[in-house]
Amino acid sequence: AELYGVPEWSGGYFTIADSGEMMVLPAAGETGRAVSISQIAKGVKERGLDMPVLLRVENILDAQIATLNETFRQAMDELGYQGSFLGAYPIKVNQQQQVVEQITHFGSRYHHGLEAGSKAELIAAMGTMRDRKSVLICNGYKDEEFIDLGLYATKIGFTCILVVEMPDELPLILERSKELGAKPILGIRIKLASQASGHWAESGGDRSIFGLNTNQVIKAVDLLAQEGMLDCLQMVHYHLGSQISNIREIRSAVHEACQVYAGLAKEGAAVAYLDLGGGLAVDYDGSQSNFMSSRNYSINEYCTDIIEAVMTSLDEVGIQHPTIITESGRALVAYYSILLFNVLDVTRYRPDPLPEHLPDDCPAQINYMMETLEKLTIRNLQESFNDILFYRDEARHLFHHGKIDLRQRALAEQIFWTTITRISELSKELKHVTPELADLERVLSDIYYCNFSVFQSLPDAWAIGQLFPIMPIHRLNEEPTVNAVLADITCDCDGKIDQFIDRRGVRRFLPLHELKNSDEYLLGAFLVGAYQETLGDLHNLLGDTNVVTVRILDNGEFEFVNELEGDTVADVLSYVEYDPKRLFNSFRKTAERAVRAERITAQERKQIVQAYEAGLRGYTYFER
Ligand code: PLP
Repeated sequence: AELYGVPEWSGGYFTIADSGEMMVLPAAGETGRAVSISQIAKGVKERGLDMPVLLRVENILDAQIATLNETFRQAMDELGYQGSFLGAYPIKVNQQQQVVEQITHFGSRYHHGLEAGSKAELIAAMGTMRDRKSVLICNGYKDEEFIDLGLYATKIGFTCILVVEMPDELPLILERSKELGAKPILGIRIKLASQASGHWAESGGDRSIFGLNTNQVIKAVDLLAQEGMLDCLQMVHYHLGSQISNIREIRSAVHEACQVYAGLAKEGAAVAYLDLGGGLAVDYDGSQSNFMSSRNYSINEYCTDIIEAVMTSLDEVGIQHPTIITESGRALVAYYSILLFNVLDVTRYRPDPLPEHLPDDCPAQINYMMETLEKLTIRNLQESFNDILFYRDEARHLFHHGKIDLRQRALAEQIFWTTITRISELSKELKHVTPELADLERVLSDIYYCNFSVFQSLPDAWAIGQLFPIMPIHRLNEEPTVNAVLADITCDCDGKIDQFIDRRGVRRFLPLHELKNSDEYLLGAFLVGAYQETLGDLHNLLGDTNVVTVRILDNGEFEFVNELEGDTVADVLSYVEYDPKRLFNSFRKTAERAVRAERITAQERKQIVQAYEAGLRGYTYFER
């Protein structure tokens, strides 16, 4: 547990059992109902689904929704807040129908609503939501059709709030409301001067793409007043960015937004909702810091600080406390999905044993290399490192110019790697090592080839260097003896993971176990429920993985509540405009020509065509 930092990043949902299995818990800290993830994986395979599998544990989603809502309520009670809290799940964070349905189902007891940022998301929301006490927030660039849909949603009784994101949207909304005879509920997205640091910082601040600056807000107010519709303006909205690691940035944004809220109230707007957008971060690396993959606050602190900031800002000017809305996405869904994948193969960086004596005709450089190795001690590590690099480069140079042959070059490389391995081992005995020597563990780490695609399943790891906790899900009572980086099965040199979580920053290799004969070795990438599923792409035509949802029951057993087969080869080919039937027919003809040319028999053709057809129907990942 220590080695992989489980207690720090698990949010209380994962723990390691004495049996060495990674366990998942239905609610934070509820160890009495812990379930072995490798047992779930076994059940998945028995049901005929291959790895990789995206495993969702629905209890965790339920628990996260409860935590967010109840922590806000508790903070409101403790501080004497007069308003209430409503959540709105932003569909963009994970749009899968099953996810959105589960959120509305588990969220119904808190009237947890939805946020839509496009027409498609609005249509998904309108078809899923039933609870009229929850809010439906419409963000994003809006055309007439988007606005009309939002207005119809209001007409049939939803609290559907159309957020004005661009100055030109307001006249169109007013025109469509008159046309359809619907009174809109309006929000206004503001650009804050407060800006957060990190990857998504430009969602806030003066240069943010969306939102109105103060001058545009005033113009919107004037237009609404002129139309006698100031009472429609009910909400102030902003979004500072996702994964805001620093609580101080969240706090100062709330203060600024409250000033705008108060200003609008004074202008006569019927403001009643303050929507703070998303941003509640997930501590992926467990460092509890303001690193990009972490956060320097707890949910408790987040809720308390927000309520306090709203109260201090608005009490001062005597304005009633609003209903606070947040559009937390990441924090709700990240924990409940785990990507499970198997290791297929390993490349080792262990040098073969060296010959006892060097051949007589060895060039001087190779003899010098051997001498460096023989004289290596703990006292001359750096010097030996410098020497061995120097002679290795010379040997390479000689090879380029035909002065040493292929066997001699291979020998030079062997001596080099033997020396480097020895230096790395000896350096572990030192208290202080130079950065170059400290990096040798990474340089010497093995490559574990894993059955997944970084681009499809962990796109943020590739695109923005996001860290996810990754570790074996079994054999955790055995000491891991190998340092490794992970390569996926795309043949892209970026298809790898060589950065791993560490409390003090980033680790460049992962401690893993030796593979045992033909036993399957399974790894899990944790906290992958937010953003990864739909940002993932079809690089190398590796498609969606199989998805399995389980529920942990009251008696501590689990049941499979849903399974979704991943893309077949035919599916991914059709996404890139192939017609699988045409491909199949064309291949049949090619095989027939081979029969006519007597390269294969008709029986062989039958076998080949069947294999092609099975390939089309098969999973895009490595199948055993
Ligand atoms: N609301 C809006 C407008 C967003 O653009 C986003 C995503 O960045 C979110 C909410 C969700 O943010 P998070 O996942 O950080 O909660």
